[in-house]
Amino acid sequence: MNTADETQILDAIAKWLERDVRPKARELEKKDEYPEQMVAQMKALGLFGATIPQAYGGLGLPASTYAKIVAQISEVWMSLTGIFNSHLIMATAVARYGTGEQKEKFLPKFASGEVRGGLALTEPDCGTDLQAIRTRAVRDGKDYVVNGTKTWISNGIKGSCFALLVKTDPAAQPRHKGMSMFLAEKGKGFKVSKKLEKLGYKGIDSAELIFEDYRVPAANLIGGEEGKGFHHAIGGLELGRINVAARGVGVANAALKDAVAYAQVRKSFGKPICEHQAIQLKLGEMATRCEAARLLVESAARAYDAGERCDMEAGMAKYFASEAALENSIEAVRIHGGYGYSTEFNVERYYRDAPLLCIGEGTNEMQRIIIARQLIARNPA
Ligand SMILES: Cc1cc2nc3c(=O)[nH]c(=O)nc-3n(C[C@H](O)[C@H](O)[C@H](O)COP(=O)(O)OP(=O)(O)OC[C@H]3O[C@@H](n4cnc5c(N)ncnc54)[C@H](O)[C@@H]3O)c2cc1C
Repeated sequence: MNTADETQILDAIAKWLERDVRPKARELEKKDEYPEQMVAQMKALGLFGATIPQAYGGLGLPASTYAKIVAQISEVWMSLTGIFNSHLIMATAVARYGTGEQKEKFLPKFASGEVRGGLALTEPDCGTDLQAIRTRAVRDGKDYVVNGTKTWISNGIKGSCFALLVKTDPAAQPRHKGMSMFLAEKGKGFKVSKKLEKLGYKGIDSAELIFEDYRVPAANLIGGEEGKGFHHAIGGLELGRINVAARGVGVANAALKDAVAYAQVRKSFGKPICEHQAIQLKLGEMATRCEAARLLVESAARAYDAGERCDMEAGMAKYFASEAALENSIEAVRIHGGYGYSTEFNVERYYRDAPLLCIGEGTNEMQRIIIARQLIARNPA
């Protein structure tokens, strides 16, 4: 993608954010209301097809441009990025590993936003240790019959199709060889059992899903072959981690901008608080974190776009940028003093949204372990 095209897309999104999102985000967030109108606008902007190849009706954007879009939107309201991100990870699994028939059938509808959804990996008993999942799919004629429970599924209520990770052979060793991934469309036996209440990340629905003798056509087994589901799930998470890192850049920047603005107007002891060295130290650290996080995201996205192995780079970006968002948000709260604790200002929202970034798409504990393992693998003694 050339710079002019990228600038044009980023400009269109910036205008939409200022005109339609910023004025309404706080109210919707407070009510934890699904932003229907914004979702319609996101469809029109092509965001549900952002990384889907153009041949299937998507924008075919590289990860580097996509990451900039995610950071830009997260600077205004992070929740919106969740509505299309796990949806795009599902689409990436189809585009990379799906059969020709699956690509023809699903990708154009995913790209237009007509069919939206996400990823159903996590279960009540396990998230990090995905190979311990218990949701089971058993072949029965032209279908598989699925039983089990998934939790924390983003877009679980509003979405209609999910990349569903199951066990097709629970006895397989190593465990991942018994895992498969299906495109599961809502229907008989696929129930949303509850909406989950959260600290932040409001507006977007997170739900528990129950599968009771749910029949999914064998034609919806991604790639048409059992035993590849774990590989498909992990492959998609690289883009997912770049996305979470980009959200971190957005939230960290938002906290910095609000703090820089407030520190110039709030006065104590006869001068703006930005003239106190204690506040300057905070602003200096916050700005440095933003810049470092942005560069790490750019570097991971560049490696992803070049088709290079980038689990270490995506892990570093995800780890650093999410911690930057968390640290910047608490510093912004401190700089706002009592007003930082008030719902009249946005900084308390950043402080409620940021911790999710340290948990989702692989916790930051796991990211550091992934980085260390790669470090050793790439540098044998
Ligand atoms: C708002 C929200 C949205 C989400 N959206 C989705 C979604 O759309 N789809 C989906 O499938 N999931 C989703 N998740 C789930 C998320 O991916 C998991 O919460 C996450 O992977 C962690 O899993 P867990 O909660 O089971 O924690 P656990 O795996 O139980 O981990 C608990 C703690 O132990 C640590 N830990 C675990 N194993 C190790 C180890 N080997 N070494 C060191 N530390 C370890 C973890 O880092 C963590 O600190 C969402 C979660 C939230 C909160």
